[in-house]
Amino acid sequence: MMAEQKNKVGPVWVIAEQIDCRLLSVSTQLIGQARKLADELNTSVEAVLLGDGIEGQIQELIAAGAKRVYLGNAPELAFYHPERYTEIIVNLAEGHKPEIILIGSTAMGRELAPQMAARLKTGLTAHCIDLVLDEDKNLEQHIPAYGGLLSIVCPKRRPQMATVASGVFTTPEPDETRTGEVIELLLPDIVYDRIETLQVVREEPKGVPLESADIVVAGGAGAGDLEGWHKIADLANCLNGALGATRPAVDEGWTELTTMIGQSGKMVSPQLYIGVGLSGEQQHLVGVVDAKVMVAINIDNRSPVFEQVDYGIVDDCREFLPVLIEKIKAYQERLVTC
Ligand SMILES: Cc1cc2nc3c(=O)[nH]c(=O)nc-3n(C[C@H](O)[C@H](O)[C@H](O)COP(=O)(O)OP(=O)(O)OC[C@H]3O[C@@H](n4cnc5c(N)ncnc54)[C@H](O)[C@@H]3O)c2cc1C
Repeated sequence: MMAEQKNKVGPVWVIAEQIDCRLLSVSTQLIGQARKLADELNTSVEAVLLGDGIEGQIQELIAAGAKRVYLGNAPELAFYHPERYTEIIVNLAEGHKPEIILIGSTAMGRELAPQMAARLKTGLTAHCIDLVLDEDKNLEQHIPAYGGLLSIVCPKRRPQMATVASGVFTTPEPDETRTGEVIELLLPDIVYDRIETLQVVREEPKGVPLESADIVVAGGAGAGDLEGWHKIADLANCLNGALGATRPAVDEGWTELTTMIGQSGKMVSPQLYIGVGLSGEQQHLVGVVDAKVMVAINIDNRSPVFEQVDYGIVDDCREFLPVLIEKIKAYQERLVTC
């Protein structure tokens, strides 16, 4: 158990992640932030990477700032396995006592992090949007909540654990001159037969990817029904933009979870963001980072979303969108014939 040991500051760990032997960008982003925290704590950054045939990713982690990489490289680790991955990383953490463990808010991280936290008997803050140190050098983990920001600390237990989505922190410039140590891990001698990966099916992303889109049209509960939702999707299509959503739109089944923007969804940084029929809750808008121009279409002129955007249109989106789409199409046709 790792409680109450505050004399020596352990390293800052990043649980890195790869898919098909390609390191996820969130892993290097977390290493960049881990370096800032480690510098302030006067300690080092270390990464843990599990997979099969992943030697090629070691240098990427070191170039991003990891001084040591714990590498589990074996066919049994080719795909994320909840029990096996948890066992290996928890054993390692118990031995090396990291001060902080950062994990991406990915499908893997969302499952792995709480399992690890429970085993390590420590706290975990999910979907952080910033990580800094307070005056006692505890990790301040910021999340949007109750219409503002909450700052969570875990002063009595170690490690302090947080998950963060891709895009919250910027990707650090790689420095190929950096060097680091690689420690190869031995697999625990345990048979895991409760879960077995039989097949991995990859879904091809539809349309323009949200994370890299220049134009994002995000729809919310105000769409009213599937027909209303299709009008929002039509606007995204005619602008050649990506379609995003708030949580209620996903919960209604109008769109997939992969389109959700916000604290527990994706981060976007478009040139133009258009929010349709949504109230501008922090948990959603925190996912809109550095948008150049923001527009909202809402039926209620007192909606808080209007305080967050550059341009506001007060109207019923189900009536306004068909007219807007028609105008945009007519304009596009004029451009082609000119
Ligand atoms: C821990 C946690 C994490 C969360 N993470 C996320 C997240 O990642 N992403 C996310 O989106 N949410 C998230 N949420 C939910 C979030 O708090 C809000 O509930 C959600 O964003 C609200 O969605 P909305 O704006 O679509 O719905 P509402 O708040 O219900 O707003 C609907 C808006 O539509 C307007 N409207 C109604 N009819 C029309 C019409 N005909 N035309 C135009 N406008 C109309 C209304 O005036 C209203 O402003 C999270 C919540 C929690 C607790």
